[in-house]
Amino acid sequence: NVILSVKNLTANVEGTPILKGVNLEIKAGEVHAIMGRNGSGKSTLSKVLAGHPDYEVTGGEVVYKGENILDKSPDERALEGIFLAFQYPLEIPGVSNLDFLRVAYNTRRKHLGLEEIDTFDFEDLVEEKLEVVKMNAAFLDRSLNEGFSGGEKKRNEILQMALLEPTLGILDEIDSGLDIDALKIVANGVNQLSTPDNAFLLITHYQRLLNYIEPHHVHVMYDGQLVTSGGKELALELEESGYDFIEEKLLAQA
Ligand code: ADP
Ligand code: MG
Ligand code: MG
Repeated sequence: NVILSVKNLTANVEGTPILKGVNLEIKAGEVHAIMGRNGSGKSTLSKVLAGHPDYEVTGGEVVYKGENILDKSPDERALEGIFLAFQYPLEIPGVSNLDFLRVAYNTRRKHLGLEEIDTFDFEDLVEEKLEVVKMNAAFLDRSLNEGFSGGEKKRNEILQMALLEPTLGILDEIDSGLDIDALKIVANGVNQLSTPDNAFLLITHYQRLLNYIEPHHVHVMYDGQLVTSGGKELALELEESGYDFIEEKLLAQA
């Protein structure tokens, strides 16, 4: 039961090749982690998967639930259950968090052929989901992400994910800038949302997050390719030896 299959994916940013042949297969029920040095192309991969217009796909394929999605808009991909949590969540002054969440939720319901949910029922639903990220209801009345701390923004991303119940959740550096308590809340949220029917792709520079979310597969991104894969022990090895050891291994193979 394959959710995502990426084959020989290449992509440019402003004419420069960044992804140089990415291969990745993610099955239902799996949690994958991609680690790698800064600048190796991790965020580029997440943005290409989400369909960000600044990233030009030059080759390869991305098959999601059996369908090539490269021609689909970011909105269509989101409606079909791909959720990208941002490294730097947007602030939208004047739009309350609650309204934002309700519109996002109802848009997805419509796409699934379901009726819109009314404001009161929606508030009940959100209050349930607030538990997942240990957020206080006062959060909902504030403008989207405006003046939120780093940890609050990341928890808000998880709240959105809890509501939208994506099939594929992609979390790009959700751990960056989080103190240990916020990190645990975010990790717990992901663990609670993980089911046999969905999958998660965690992108992280540090091993720390993986102490709280156990990935089934760990991959290393190096110069636009996933060069090594393994189990969670690979993350520990990276923590210990740094990314240099990957480079040495690659040079030895060349
Ligand atoms: P990572 O997430 O692994 O740190 P990125 O995917 O952010 O790496 O970046 C990979 C490379 O692509 C870097 O050299 C970066 O400067 C370049 N890059 C990424 N996004 C852009 C962009 N919007 N414009 C120009 N260069 C970019
Ligand atoms: Mg980076
Ligand atoms: Mg990045």
